Amino acid sequence: MKEKFFVVELLKWYSIHKRDLPWRESTDPYHIWLSEIILQQTRVNQGLPYYLKFIRSYPTIKSLANAPEQEVLRLWQGLGYYSRARNLHYSAKKLLSENDGILPRTYKELLLVKGIGKYTAAAIASFAYKEKVAVVDGNVFRVLARIFGIDKDIMDPAGIKEFYKLAELLLPDKNHHIYNQAIMEFGALHCTPAAPGCDECIFKKMCFAYKHDLQSKLPVKSKKVKKKTRYFNYLCIRHKNKFLMKERDGKDIWKGLFEFPLMEDKKEKDHDEIIERFNKTEISVDQESKVFKHILTHQTIYSKFYVISIKELGDFNKILKDSKCKPYNQHEIKKLPKSMLINKFLEEYIFV
Ligand code: SF4
Repeated sequence: MKEKFFVVELLKWYSIHKRDLPWRESTDPYHIWLSEIILQQTRVNQGLPYYLKFIRSYPTIKSLANAPEQEVLRLWQGLGYYSRARNLHYSAKKLLSENDGILPRTYKELLLVKGIGKYTAAAIASFAYKEKVAVVDGNVFRVLARIFGIDKDIMDPAGIKEFYKLAELLLPDKNHHIYNQAIMEFGALHCTPAAPGCDECIFKKMCFAYKHDLQSKLPVKSKKVKKKTRYFNYLCIRHKNKFLMKERDGKDIWKGLFEFPLMEDKKEKDHDEIIERFNKTEISVDQESKVFKHILTHQTIYSKFYVISIKELGDFNKILKDSKCKPYNQHEIKKLPKSMLINKFLEEYIFV
């Protein structure tokens, strides 16, 4: 009874309060895929211009697949979590070569596409194909935990299972795709993490968290990822009118983006210590930047840039042996995909 009331009232609430968002007007699975990948870890206001840019530049999976990776990363620049863009591009290419650029039609098959997890597969299956499957994101965890009083950990597999069980039980036979949108929207707009609108809430009478004053305790999320602190010293090496840069590789952040040669330190080094390393090479630092503090979800990076002019490209080896670096002029650098940290430095110190 309680469950039925919840679904009916939620659908009414949604019909009045829903936002007009471009991907909601579409049943094109590619548009939904793109919007869901962009909106992971990103607020709607920030993600919307990126979604529009991507749809304009790559209106189909085929056009995305045929674009060079650097161009895709450049368009993604500023959104962070670049593996999302790389996986999106990789999967578009794979879909084009193996399935004529068409996404699979079922939840189970969608899960086989790289970069599509449970949430995104459910969103595409529900919104594009109207498959009856529960879409569970952070908003849904929060709304269910508070209203139905679930105190299981949303980071723990057993806890997650319990949330999915309830989410599936609540799915109505008709309009389940609208219900999925509605519960996420209710969490995003009304039952928000820090300031839920309890006083005007339609579920006040049935809400467990409201009755027991537990809004700030639910949902339970135990495993907090410890933030790492890193210290990046970038060597911004100028040769004539060009700067040495290279593409980041490995399993670290910003794979595929371009940066200056990097010396990473475990501790904050006194800058004299860095300068000393150059003095040994008889190459002097023209300019050193302020310290840039760059905050990512799981790490904080303190970064300093040292601008160094060299007469011969070979002099670079006296500072650091790195054969992957190539010289780029300012025009070329502007076109390369780069992290926001590198961009901030360039705008404050180089492109002025
Ligand atoms: S009463 Fe408060 S905590 Fe409960 S559903 Fe409404 S907004 Fe969320």
